[in-house]
Amino acid sequence: MAKKAEELLCYIFEEILPEHGMSLRENQKELSLEMLRALIENKLALCEAEVGTGKTHAYILALTIYNLYAKTKASAVISTSTIALQKALTEEYIPQISNILLEHKIIEKPLTFVIRKGKKHYVCDTRLRTYESSIKNLDRELDQKLLIELKRLTGENENLLDLDNAILTPYVKGRINVLQCRESCPYAVLCRFMNFKKKCMLSGIDFQITNHNFILADLIGRKQGRKPLFPAYHAIVLDESHKLVDAARQMYSTFLEEQELERLLALANGNRVMGVRSMERLEQLSSHILKNSELLFERLGYGLSGNHTREGSRESFTVGLIEQIYIKNIIYGLEQMALLCKEDGGNRTRNVQRGCQNLIDKYNIFLNSNYFICWMEKRENGRLAMCVIPMELERILYEDIWNRAIPSILTSGTMSVRGDFTHFRRNTGINFAPDRRIMETSKESPFDYKNHGMLYIPERMPFPNIRDGKYMEILMEEIKKIINATHGHTLILFTSYWLMERVFYGLKEEISGYPLFMMGKGRLDVISNFRKSGNGVLFASDSAGEGIDLAGDILSSLIVVKLPFPVPDPVMEYQSRQYDDFELYKQDIIIPAMLIKLRQWMGRGIRRESDSAVFTILDSRASLCGKYREEILNALPSMPVTDRLVDVADFIIRKKADSYFEE
Ligand code: SF4
Repeated sequence: MAKKAEELLCYIFEEILPEHGMSLRENQKELSLEMLRALIENKLALCEAEVGTGKTHAYILALTIYNLYAKTKASAVISTSTIALQKALTEEYIPQISNILLEHKIIEKPLTFVIRKGKKHYVCDTRLRTYESSIKNLDRELDQKLLIELKRLTGENENLLDLDNAILTPYVKGRINVLQCRESCPYAVLCRFMNFKKKCMLSGIDFQITNHNFILADLIGRKQGRKPLFPAYHAIVLDESHKLVDAARQMYSTFLEEQELERLLALANGNRVMGVRSMERLEQLSSHILKNSELLFERLGYGLSGNHTREGSRESFTVGLIEQIYIKNIIYGLEQMALLCKEDGGNRTRNVQRGCQNLIDKYNIFLNSNYFICWMEKRENGRLAMCVIPMELERILYEDIWNRAIPSILTSGTMSVRGDFTHFRRNTGINFAPDRRIMETSKESPFDYKNHGMLYIPERMPFPNIRDGKYMEILMEEIKKIINATHGHTLILFTSYWLMERVFYGLKEEISGYPLFMMGKGRLDVISNFRKSGNGVLFASDSAGEGIDLAGDILSSLIVVKLPFPVPDPVMEYQSRQYDDFELYKQDIIIPAMLIKLRQWMGRGIRRESDSAVFTILDSRASLCGKYREEILNALPSMPVTDRLVDVADFIIRKKADSYFEE
């Protein structure tokens, strides 16, 4: 099988794709062949493919040929981190490959796929109807547009189930999504979501397209005895796999927000279905639980309370004797409450009983916290949450994902430091797999950085200390000069929102001729405005440093303000405690993480063969005497390096057409 499959794959790359305008790229063919071999030999394949390699076509073809020659046909799961990639897969890549293979009679029927995601992304027919009629009854002029959009979501078509494409506010989506789907729903037989779910579980679908969170939810659910979310599949591709660890940290963490308890108590006390005595007892229990919860949060969240800490701030804690007493008191109160509701309220208080059990389970994790990392976190609304994640997350990931007889391809533009996957393997738990099961490959970008790129690292930058007025002054001055030298067309990446805002407002009045944009949290619309501007300057943080594709001249200058070292958090604190020598920890964890992130950021610069860009690092630690210069230069694609701004201006004049300067 292997030989024939490989021959066919080579034939497709060498003969068929060029007929359809896709010229042969040796790196891409080689990558696809390695992926195919990994599938046949049941490997865990780490396939780094830098920008422009064509990894998406490579794995779609490898999966298709693998299925073609497999004894038993089955689905393959393709997991991504972004909706944009899912869209590209389903609207461009898969249909394109499917048509080509059909035309050449390599497959007999079109390739099929379904998109799978969490319940909150789908419409519940019952909730949609209820919400629609509640709005209709109000009969308000301002609801007309909303009603049209809600109407559009009704009907037979299953494609209309997807809330991601709906033009609705998050509030409205929350009112009509499937999240609260009830097992006892009388409309289940007619429900479009239920029918869609059934269809997804049929065999014969070539690709189950999903996201990292959903696939982890499936694995965790199976472990806990819940029904699988996918039909049997025989291969998995994790694209954008550099985001897998973030997804895993989210999925394997437990969060207990301050207001969860308050909501449950409000629900219990508002449930006027029990006798007077029981209601009195319920009130007593509520105040007992609340008091203990307040004391617990006050004690654990002491360092985060007040206005001096920002959203997202975290502080580790351990559960001591006093905390245990509060938690036990809360659990006792919740158990009593659940019992009371069961005895006096029966089925009518089922939601309260369920809520009590849910919270008891969460508090119990904190009681047994010896194997967990615990921390308090300040949320968007300013309230606190208790959070917990297993210390041995990597081993759990190995057991849940990699220790199965299913070949897995992990791919991304940046997974290694110059071909060394140690950091990635350690973080994802793949390290626990036997070496013979792991395959590694790293494909360089085909783009000509030597001629189309320039790295500018000025020597005048002081150490990046944001509290140092002199540093801030020189930083803004330097950014202004670079923007003028490259005639705008600039993306500036910051490691913190605070610094980004200060520099943006500091330069707003200083820069004329180029529109300035600042990308706050979730403001993806800013990217399209920047693109349309032709020569604008975009101030952005990490979210713009990954996954966005700004091809062409609009991004001809990319400025990294500070080296993107990982922000210390409770998980990193725990990791650092595992090392006796901090220097070793830095070499093993911190520096590789920074270099991988820096490569991701730099990957935004050149997106097509014809692109050219200047890359700037304004961090003195990358300068000639800088501590990390050598590692940085080794990690980045080879290109001319300069510390003279005049070289930057010359480069832009040489590389860009006249139209570039007219915008
Ligand atoms: S079965 Fe679930 S998703 Fe379908 S209509 Fe009923 S509650 Fe909504």
